[in-house]
Amino acid sequence: MAVKEELNNSSLKLLLDKFSIQESDFTLVPHSFNIQDFIDKKVDVTTAFISNELYHIQKSKIPYNIINPESYGIRSFSHNLFSSLDFVEKNPTLIKNFLQATKKGWEYALKNQYELSTIIYNKYSQKKSIEALLFEAKQIEKLIMPNIFPIGSINYEVMNRKLKEVIGNSQDHHDFFFNYTQSNPFSFTQEEFDYLKGIDKITMCVDPSWLPFEAIEEGKHVGMAAEYINLIEKKIGKPIQLIETSTWSESIKLAKERKCDIMSLVQETPIRNKYLNFTSSYLNFPLVLSTKDSQSFIADIKDIMNKRVGIVKGYASVELLKKRYPRIILVEFDTINDGLEAVRNSEVFAFVDSLATIGFAIQQGFIGELRVAGKLDLSLELGIGVRNDNLILLSILQKAVTSIIREDHQRIKQSWINVNYSDESHQLLQKVTLSTAVILILFVILYLVQRRYLIKLQKANQIIEEQNTQLTLLSTTDKLTQLYNRHKLEDSISEQFEYAKRFKTPLSFIMIDIDFFKRVNDNYGHIKGDYILKTFAHIVRKNIRKTDILGRWGGEEFLIISPNSSEEKSVQVAQKIQELIANYHFDDLPRQSASFGVSELHSTESTQEAINQADRALYHSKESGRNKVSKASSL
Ligand code: GH3
Ligand code: MG
Ligand code: MG
Repeated sequence: MAVKEELNNSSLKLLLDKFSIQESDFTLVPHSFNIQDFIDKKVDVTTAFISNELYHIQKSKIPYNIINPESYGIRSFSHNLFSSLDFVEKNPTLIKNFLQATKKGWEYALKNQYELSTIIYNKYSQKKSIEALLFEAKQIEKLIMPNIFPIGSINYEVMNRKLKEVIGNSQDHHDFFFNYTQSNPFSFTQEEFDYLKGIDKITMCVDPSWLPFEAIEEGKHVGMAAEYINLIEKKIGKPIQLIETSTWSESIKLAKERKCDIMSLVQETPIRNKYLNFTSSYLNFPLVLSTKDSQSFIADIKDIMNKRVGIVKGYASVELLKKRYPRIILVEFDTINDGLEAVRNSEVFAFVDSLATIGFAIQQGFIGELRVAGKLDLSLELGIGVRNDNLILLSILQKAVTSIIREDHQRIKQSWINVNYSDESHQLLQKVTLSTAVILILFVILYLVQRRYLIKLQKANQIIEEQNTQLTLLSTTDKLTQLYNRHKLEDSISEQFEYAKRFKTPLSFIMIDIDFFKRVNDNYGHIKGDYILKTFAHIVRKNIRKTDILGRWGGEEFLIISPNSSEEKSVQVAQKIQELIANYHFDDLPRQSASFGVSELHSTESTQEAINQADRALYHSKESGRNKVSKASSL
């Protein structure tokens, strides 16, 4: 049982081909999409989804066998998103957002399978039970393998092979797959196009001695930045011409004088913003401290406070460091080598630069003498600096930088860092790696210590919070009856008053006083008196609404605040309680009773007036024989 199309165009077709099974070798039964036909043995074989029909097959407990094309090396990828090239090129942002939203949805769905199953069931279709939907979710998760392949990622190699297999030619199909950074990198605006058309080159200043980042060697720009600039030249289709200098400060001077349009590799700083704009960074490296080999590891930046620390003149790090660590004594040098030389001669204690450059320089001439001894919490984030009177060039170069793909980043980093470290000097690599490892371990320790304190802190906070709750409870609760105390009642009255005024809802009060309570104390003692108070409180509490507020107003007096209740309704509540009390057996004590006064707040009254009204009604009850309910409105 299968759908005809499946036999022409699916992984099933590839599987049949693989074993030279032709249509004449079996009888095709059109798909009924009812798995019961298979369970009832009406067909011998059926096409099915592992995520769907398998659930019913398993439930039916019939023996079955799965022939999965994947087991025979036939991988298929379902649920791909397709778009026309034209649409992709015209709407890169829409495509990117759509992909992001889709991935986000899938991630959420896989994490919240039960929730999604119930949503499908409750909102869309009851065709499958929640159990079946959950089964499907689990199977889908297995197929997606989100722990191995990021959701929405494409395995180009496998896809490429697959395409070749299906289409049957050996051509590469990489262009077939969407890659945001690659796609449409040059959606230049007309203005940008015109600008590029109108110029014949872009001039560039660089750092003449900052390997592996960049340098000028025999009049040529070399290093990582040079490779990036090469890529960018190709992307924008215009030559970028090097303006030769012999120091970084000279390059900066030329940039300020507008003698170069761009600076190949610079960090953004406030001072530089006066003459440059910056693309986003394309190279990032942590800043490290290099010292003599005999110096032990510098774990705390405080250790170099008040010490002389070298740095290359005009580097962004100078600005950053001065701001971050004003107490370091910075000594500026023309080149990194001059600085390291000064460390060797003890003219300065340490020298600051990026891990990449310092590692490189040590390898070139200071092995065994200098080392990387610490890391600052600053890093270099280097992009292209563009003269700030040329915004079009900035946006062109930003597009070019954004379009650099990960593979290129990796290739360039690897060719300049790994290789150069490892071939000549294993020792250095080991030292750099060792230092990095030490740094990492220290970070981990720091993290763990911090976490321990954090946990302690959290626990302490929890205790404080519990104590606070306890305190609030204490300050608002009456010890004997566990009802609200007078203080809390007064707060509640003001609160409810505001609420009633604002929402124009009724608010009433029931004041209660136990009759002849003094006699109980006098005849049976305080303990019995307390028992009555507690029991009384309990009975009242059980017989009011959740929203009513009950508290002990004084000795044997209680107050009920009844939001959203008219005087008439509260009278009914009071009467019910009055009867319950009058009929209650307080152990072996004689029957007890209480008197009630009810009032409702009127728009012109203050809360005090309303309470007084209830009090007056209560005394009216007392005067007219006790064990009664009176309302203020009929006084
Ligand atoms: P009436 O019907 O007029 O209200 O008479 P009464 O005896 O209830 O009124 P009175 O105000 O004269 O007496 C109240 C008594 O309540 C006085 C006091 O001994 C008692 N009382 C107040 N607080 C407590 C308490 O916490 N425990 C006990 N056991 N008795 C209390
Ligand atoms: Mg009293
Ligand atoms: Mg009393």
